[in-house]
Amino acid sequence: MATVVKKFGGTSVGDVQRIKNVAALVKDFLDKQPGTRLVVVASAMAGETNRLIALAKSCVPSPDPRELDALLATGEETSIALLAMALIEQGVPAVSLTAEQVGISTDTRHNNAQITEIKSQRLEQVLSKGKVAVVAGFQGVDGDGNVTTLGRGGSDITAVAIAAELKADACYIYTDVEGVFSTDPRICPRAQYLKEVSHEEMLEMASLGAKVLHPRSVYFAMRYEVPLVVLSTFNPGPGTWIIKEEKLMEKPLVTGITYRMDEAKITVNKVPGGSKPLDLIFGRLAEHGILVDMITQSGVSKDSYDLSFTVPDEVSGQALEIAQQCVPELEAEGAHLERDIAKISVVGVGMRYHTGVAAKMFSVLAEENIDVQMIGTSEIKISVAVPRKYGEVAVRALHEKFIEMRPEVSVEK
Ligand code: ADP
Ligand code: ASP
Ligand code: MG
Repeated sequence: MATVVKKFGGTSVGDVQRIKNVAALVKDFLDKQPGTRLVVVASAMAGETNRLIALAKSCVPSPDPRELDALLATGEETSIALLAMALIEQGVPAVSLTAEQVGISTDTRHNNAQITEIKSQRLEQVLSKGKVAVVAGFQGVDGDGNVTTLGRGGSDITAVAIAAELKADACYIYTDVEGVFSTDPRICPRAQYLKEVSHEEMLEMASLGAKVLHPRSVYFAMRYEVPLVVLSTFNPGPGTWIIKEEKLMEKPLVTGITYRMDEAKITVNKVPGGSKPLDLIFGRLAEHGILVDMITQSGVSKDSYDLSFTVPDEVSGQALEIAQQCVPELEAEGAHLERDIAKISVVGVGMRYHTGVAAKMFSVLAEENIDVQMIGTSEIKISVAVPRKYGEVAVRALHEKFIEMRPEVSVEK
């Protein structure tokens, strides 16, 4: 008998009518494929997690991470109970389960916990009775029984991790767009629907800002070979399959353009040469758990250079303080912060086989008079940091030149 996991995101369960529609979709699926063992994972209703964060911050400026998790987890608990009620009302036996009731264990990193184990007994029990298990996404429980959450967008991880544990036949991620597109359809109306995307590309795209899937959910799908599909709750269609690179029908040079609008850049001026200063600055940042992304050295002279790096904007104040503390120790000249940075990336497995993507990227940006402040590359992506006010223009220009005007021929396998 087939086992399937279906995850419904915030917009899909955004109000009571939508929850009833999801219940109808689930019923329709079970009518067509009776006997399927079905786990449904639900997110909080659209806007609810943001509302709870704002509520916490209206109570205290920096909420205690444990208590914040206890609060945030209630968002998903509301939607699973409502969805289970709606299913029962429509004649589908269902039971809602929190992460604790399922046995989803995580480490202790509040607000960004990682799943360490999922117990399958309770799920198996529910499924063997022919009931739909409606599981709360985004939450877990640490070794001391504290409620944790998996980071924003974390319900995708819950769904794929459960699918991996149950060795499910497929995991369907239902959302508010028809699948994965060549860029965010919200900022580029000419974004193209993609029938399939390789794990590697999806992992890069998700890590570089395409929030349609959480990067760790893609990692789980790749690692445990979970067949993964992204599709719309509102517009039935085939969706996008996330597959092995070898199985791609074609390998275009550039598959997707992604953006992150929440970056900031710190520059430390006149850092003395040698690797000790790098060790000091990046060591201190790491001690404080600050994730550094792109790094460049510029203005290199015989004895010094300017060091720039990007960090998430939300921790940029703290990162600046750390850099400033290092300045006297390093005998550097000073450190300053530029907020309002966007990171734009082009991603495609075809880059493994073809050159010229970087050159074309810079020429497109130069044509638009967009100043490239930093560059980062990997085998299948090139990223640039640009002023945030040009972020959307850059995405649309790159999309036009790399995707809309793409030559017909794709790169050979
Ligand atoms: P959910 O609440 O269902 O988890 P999300 O808001 O997390 O939905 O993710 C879906 C959104 O991701 C879409 O509405 C879209 O704006 C955005 N998105 C960003 N990049 C892409 C992309 N390349 N393809 C599809 N959607 C994208
Ligand atoms: N409700 C959580 C969030 O808004 C988790 C999710 O939607 O996947 O981030
Ligand atoms: Mg999401």
